[in-house]
Amino acid sequence: MDIGFIGLGEMGAVMVANILKAGHTVRVWNRSPERAQALSAAGAQVVATPAEAFAGDAVFSMLADDAALREVIDSQLLENAPRGLIHVNMATISVALAESLAHAHAERGLNYVAAPVLGRPDVAAAGKLTIVAAGPAEAIDLVQPVFDAIGQKTWRIGSLPQQANVMKLAVNFMLASAVETLGEASTLLTGHGVAMQDFLDVITSSAFPGPVYQGYGKMIAEQRYEPALFKARLGLKDVRLALDAAGTISTALPIASVVRDSLLDAVAHGEGEMDFAVLGQVSARRAGR
Ligand code: NAP
Repeated sequence: MDIGFIGLGEMGAVMVANILKAGHTVRVWNRSPERAQALSAAGAQVVATPAEAFAGDAVFSMLADDAALREVIDSQLLENAPRGLIHVNMATISVALAESLAHAHAERGLNYVAAPVLGRPDVAAAGKLTIVAAGPAEAIDLVQPVFDAIGQKTWRIGSLPQQANVMKLAVNFMLASAVETLGEASTLLTGHGVAMQDFLDVITSSAFPGPVYQGYGKMIAEQRYEPALFKARLGLKDVRLALDAAGTISTALPIASVVRDSLLDAVAHGEGEMDFAVLGQVSARRAGR
């Protein structure tokens, strides 16, 4: 396929590398041009504007958040895009923005697919992301070869793009809650002289197997929060977006409110760029340790 790709951060850059390896033509744009240049050796065509990426069979975007999307994907860009173009937005953004982007694209004869992903940059580099896609089925069919180059499985969960975003936010809310409880359990255990690693060995081979308890638990046990694989600042963004999405349907998420405050505590202590697992340190600090 002939595609554009906008946003070459931790996730976008490794995704593009895998799309190139699968033999697709990729035009790349990034706000900081050096990240785009770094991919030209791997065969990417570097373009100077987002508009030049918004062409071909489809354009993919992997920008940081709502603010970045609003800045880059403006009405003029959509106005000038070729009719029928498919835009696949893979970032974790708000349900409200996904809904408004879907309308803005449809009004101009463009297809909008939301395809947020599960998996950190190491998983993306291995081409093993889990992709949660929603939007027009024919558009998803057309971009499936690109999804196959970056992911181990694509789940189709609805025809409204924002349904994929709410699914992703629910996952990250649960992830944040799991890390919060790991942090609190660690403070409880170590306060009574039990080694966190012993606890992890027990739970991950019985009641709580899986990458979340293993991966984040290990970081908490080792009190190792850098380098960040998933930054606390981004985790806070996602928990806030889950609370916002719940607010629009008058739904309380009490656990999410607690986790938001813990992540805010981390940011207030200058730990926003550290890994999400820093929730272990927040809990220990509250216990005076
Ligand atoms: P990142 O490394 O911080 O990269 C963010 C990208 O957005 C960069 O290309 C950055 O450009 C661009 N950007 C930010 N603000 C911009 C603006 N105002 N105008 C234009 N470009 C702007 O983030 P990431 O880890 O790749 O995450 C990208 C998305 O994937 C986020 O929505 C995140 O929640 C989601 N996600 C992340 C992970 C993870 O583990 N990291 C996992 C799943 C999903 P510059 O290079 O110029 O700064």
